[in-house]
Amino acid sequence: MLRLPRRSDWHEYALGALRRLDESIIPPRCVFCGTRARRDEQSICQGCLSDLPWVANACALCAAPVGAALPHGVHCASCQRRPPQFQATIAPLLYEFPVDAGLKALKFGRSLHYAPAFAELLLLQWPRFSSDIDALLPVPLHWRRQAFRGFNQATELSRPLAKHVGLPVIGGVSRARATAFQSGLSAPQRQRNLKNAFAVKKVLRSRHVLIVDDVVTTGETTRQLARALIERGVEKVSVLAVARAG
Ligand SMILES: [Zn+2]
Ligand SMILES: [Zn+2]
Repeated sequence: MLRLPRRSDWHEYALGALRRLDESIIPPRCVFCGTRARRDEQSICQGCLSDLPWVANACALCAAPVGAALPHGVHCASCQRRPPQFQATIAPLLYEFPVDAGLKALKFGRSLHYAPAFAELLLLQWPRFSSDIDALLPVPLHWRRQAFRGFNQATELSRPLAKHVGLPVIGGVSRARATAFQSGLSAPQRQRNLKNAFAVKKVLRSRHVLIVDDVVTTGETTRQLARALIERGVEKVSVLAVARAG
């Protein structure tokens, strides 16, 4: 039997149906420049895709941009000093225009149409990861921040990606306390700010978890989250983010 949406959902349902009808006739517009996409394009046109601020060379462990390509197995100075517990981080773009503007619009302007576009960029990176990844974990927001924002941008990025790769999006991890905003803090301050920031509520059955976030700054958030996951039985952790800042 066809399940009809609840009365309160009608407006959204009708809008969704109209949008789908519209997209079947008229192709969607590029999220960055607004031109109508060609048949082979999705949310981002080829021109904008090639103009995005791609990172040329990065540390394979933490995704920090580096001047020249590092030999296989050699990591940046920061990772050598303090090796993180994850296998790899991929953050293909610099946190510069128009990536920063798009991510800010998504997070603070509720421009949720950016989420599937950024998820398409994440999907392009998927073949670079180890094939044993068995779950995606969006970096959780503190419940108060999520309640205020109404959504978690990392979850919005994870869902379309998970659908494409056929893996589950897992939860069960929370921010144990509301951490201060990371921007403007020094590296030691960030470490203190994030110590024991995450609580994993149950033993996780996933063996290789891919942490998904919008921006990686120093990698301190993902370091702490990876540690919390490994303490609760996860064997391996990798990280995927849209952009690398700092
Ligand atoms: Zn475009
Ligand atoms: Zn590194």
